[in-house]
Amino acid sequence: MDPVPHRRVGVLALQGAFAAHARVLAELGARTREVRTPLDLVDLDALVMPGGESTTMAKLLDSSGLREPLAKLLEDGLPVFGTCAGMIMLATRVLDGRPDQWSFGAVDLAVRRNGYGRQVDSFEAELSITGLDGPAFPAVFIRAPKVVDVGPAAEVLATHDDVPVLVRQANVLVASFHPELAGDARLHRRFLQRHFLQGV
Ligand code: GLN
Repeated sequence: MDPVPHRRVGVLALQGAFAAHARVLAELGARTREVRTPLDLVDLDALVMPGGESTTMAKLLDSSGLREPLAKLLEDGLPVFGTCAGMIMLATRVLDGRPDQWSFGAVDLAVRRNGYGRQVDSFEAELSITGLDGPAFPAVFIRAPKVVDVGPAAEVLATHDDVPVLVRQANVLVASFHPELAGDARLHRRFLQRHFLQGV
């Protein structure tokens, strides 16, 4: 079954790991569009904000003119899936950011940039995810943000060593890991199905 007939899913493509996300979404049957300018936002049904470098991403969101229209779309309830740096961009509070670092504040959580420390800059972990049947999800963490606080409006869907790593609030889903590198499309599929299939 095609889970997302005729849906247009944007992938923020200013920098970072956008190509692998687009591939996974396309394999699931979504029409994808790389988003680099405000015009690319027109008629999007959903958006993925990939991993990368949140300080650079924040600057490019400003200089491209995307910051304001994207903030408005988030307010209006656009479904957004943010991963790693994307999680940082969507959090309400960013610790250890640059002094001028800003974020959209769409999910009520505090994250610490590079919070897993140097010795474990990158690692893999098997996650048990609420609502995801089947085997554990192979999560790849790369210089990942660490969630240090989750507000009451947000729902934790997975933890690793008691630290939240997958969190949802309304239409926004954020992961501190890289699901697009897992070789497992279940999270992308669930993101799409939740918004575009009735009754899911
Ligand atoms: N450490 C990066 C940041 O602060 C995030 C890393 C990633 O997206 N893989 O933005």
